[in-house]
Amino acid sequence: MVRVAVIGSGYVGLVAAACFAELGHEVICVDNDARKIAALERGETPIHEKFLPELLARHRGHRLRFSGSVRDAARDSQAIFIAVGTPPSENGEADLSYVEAVSREIAQAIASSPNEYRIVVEKSTVPVDTSRGVHRVMELNGAPTHLFDVASNPEFLREGSAVTDFLYPDRIVIGADSERCIALLKKIYEPLTDGSYYQNKNIIPEPDDVQTPARLIATSAKSAELIKHASNAFLAMKISFINAVAAVCESVGADVGQVREGMGADVRIGKRFLNPGIGYGGSCFPKDVKAFRAVAEHCGYDFGMLDEVMKINDEQRQRFIKKVRNALWILKGKRLAVLGLAFKGGTDDIRDSQAIAIVQLLLKEGCSIAAFDPAAMPKTQASGVFPEEAVFFAENAYAAARDADAVLVLTDWEEFTALDFERLRAALKHPIMIDGRNLFQPQTMSELGFTYISIGRPEVSAKKTVAVPAPGAD
Ligand code: NAD
Repeated sequence: MVRVAVIGSGYVGLVAAACFAELGHEVICVDNDARKIAALERGETPIHEKFLPELLARHRGHRLRFSGSVRDAARDSQAIFIAVGTPPSENGEADLSYVEAVSREIAQAIASSPNEYRIVVEKSTVPVDTSRGVHRVMELNGAPTHLFDVASNPEFLREGSAVTDFLYPDRIVIGADSERCIALLKKIYEPLTDGSYYQNKNIIPEPDDVQTPARLIATSAKSAELIKHASNAFLAMKISFINAVAAVCESVGADVGQVREGMGADVRIGKRFLNPGIGYGGSCFPKDVKAFRAVAEHCGYDFGMLDEVMKINDEQRQRFIKKVRNALWILKGKRLAVLGLAFKGGTDDIRDSQAIAIVQLLLKEGCSIAAFDPAAMPKTQASGVFPEEAVFFAENAYAAARDADAVLVLTDWEEFTALDFERLRAALKHPIMIDGRNLFQPQTMSELGFTYISIGRPEVSAKKTVAVPAPGAD
């Protein structure tokens, strides 16, 4: 057992804290948002994430405690993970001010109880060489250098499957420049790397296609920091690449689904993340690509390829709007049903969501929008991303579709694949679906009576002759 503190109780920190407790460690999870800590102490789960409520219920009050004090948590812990936000600043660089503020407080805690060695671990995504900056801040704030080391342990979890990603990871990367530090990090992850966690009863169920025990990769701190940025930039590149291929498919009448299948069969390429759509979004890819671009520039390398990745991604929104325009001609005054607001399925996170950006563009064009998302509507309403009352938040997909000129699929929620399409079609004014996530097969949608427009695949029109629904019917 290791005494662990996790600073920052957001999508990463809270999941990491709950999972460390699940692995048998004593965990204190900290946030400076007093409302969040109060909610967690009351037994609430502030984010939508599969298996997280179960883990919090299992460990809260036993191996998992919550606190608003970085100093208390740092003083009581052997390993202190920093999981605060690293948002983009004006020039694209990562804003490390939260990391710095937390490092200062940790240093003061170490300085005030100098009887134990501790490690400070960057779990937040940070630019290469941040560990040196953290070390410097700690030193300047009185932490004796023989009593701490700084490590990088980047997080690769995906929102929507964060808990299983954490407990069944492809790899665990630990980067540090001291043996003592690496040894403590190895101990923390040992239940996953020696497989003992997977022998327990009542564990979080194993997803498909995973290899256990987990593979551990130990590197220098700088390499670990780079692994995270390079991985995210590469994945974003894969998405932009297939989106560019989809644009070529559209202009020649080829099918990107078939192209993807053929490309992905090559094991060197692989099908995963070769999914065409409205572009990548979320709190990581857009900011991490920008930050990595800035890091490279700072190091004297002109990583122009990343500019192209971002350009293609930005263009995807306009390309999608063009599809809506092609389908409906004049946008002003059109009523559109929107399925999905979250940046991806399985989460309530709307940060940098392409779906939100597209709705904003459509509102500017004078469309009226009725939206439905299985989890992200409360956060969307509270965020003020749309002008007040500009969007009608529907209780389900059918209510959103009522009397709409077309339905747009903007998030890849699994729930959408199980919709009652007869009912959906009957609710619409025109049976037109514009699918920004290629969730469905064109042939099937055509047989179900939809004119179906997707990304990089030929448009199909409705095969079925459909009775005109009674006005207002859903
Ligand atoms: P988040 O915004 O959900 O959570 C950050 C939390 O830190 C917030 O609750 C905030 O209140 C808290 N915080 C900020 N300053 C603090 C302070 N001084 N003391 C205590 N708490 C403080 O962010 P997130 O999505 O969890 O991301 C955190 C980091 O992890 C980022 O660097 C991100 O790039 C990285 N990351 C995120 C994901 C993801 O899918 N969200 C995946 C891998 C890595």
